[in-house]
Amino acid sequence: MAQQPMLSIKGLQVAYGGIQAVKNVDMDVYEGELVTLIGSNGAGKTTTLKAITGMIPAKAGEIYYRGKSIKGTPSWDLLAQGLVMVPEGRGVFARMTIVENLQMGAYIREDKAGIEADIEKMFAIFPRLKERASQLAGTMSGGEQQMLAMARALMSQPKLLIMDEPTMGLSPVMTEVIFNVIKQVSSEGTTIILVEQNAKLALKAADRGYVMGSGNIIMNGKAADMLDDPQVQSAYLGE
Ligand code: ATP
Repeated sequence: MAQQPMLSIKGLQVAYGGIQAVKNVDMDVYEGELVTLIGSNGAGKTTTLKAITGMIPAKAGEIYYRGKSIKGTPSWDLLAQGLVMVPEGRGVFARMTIVENLQMGAYIREDKAGIEADIEKMFAIFPRLKERASQLAGTMSGGEQQMLAMARALMSQPKLLIMDEPTMGLSPVMTEVIFNVIKQVSSEGTTIILVEQNAKLALKAADRGYVMGSGNIIMNGKAADMLDDPQVQSAYLGE
């Protein structure tokens, strides 16, 4: 691809005290792509995402977003620049209602009518949230909170949406709902980085994939090629 990547990571290293969780990560994501990062438990996927979004500091390496270094940039600043993460687990405002959570997601926006329209759009995508609009988020099921976390992130109109295990703990039916939303958001032009336990589903939805093992990127390529790769199949797709 000739154009400059939207996100470019070079030689990223991250450590927790003496534990080097990310040893060497190089990754490029181009505008409009859906890129998945897969790999075994503890490989360093979540840590990589947290370093991109300013939640933990990088020890070495560089992270460029739209041509500019964002290493050390706090998450709120990145959100204002359109780089948004849906963290693993729930992460919603438990003592606020669903509608209030959605409004919070749009706090950087000033287009009141647009915000209202987007709340309706989220309710159309996730009817369950509409039924429970005035319920406190903390009293919803895990799957419902997962949907809300994704809807809240979408309310900020992200340019680059980073998702960590969005289907964690969800039923097959709910997993399908979430994947359909991911594909829809992607087809509407949002660039996406997806970390997902279900590597097969992730590679089927993605344009390209990266495989992480023990803190390093050990493979990358077109998602379709990776699905056909016997090594990937036996190690990550349970085939
Ligand atoms: P999973 O698929 O299991 O979520 P992952 O690929 O996302 O795994 P990380 O969560 O990034 O992996 O963890 C990478 C390594 O860093 C693991 O060995 C983990 O134990 C370690 N680690 C993660 N968070 C911390 C922390 N806060 N303090 C110390 N070590 C940590």
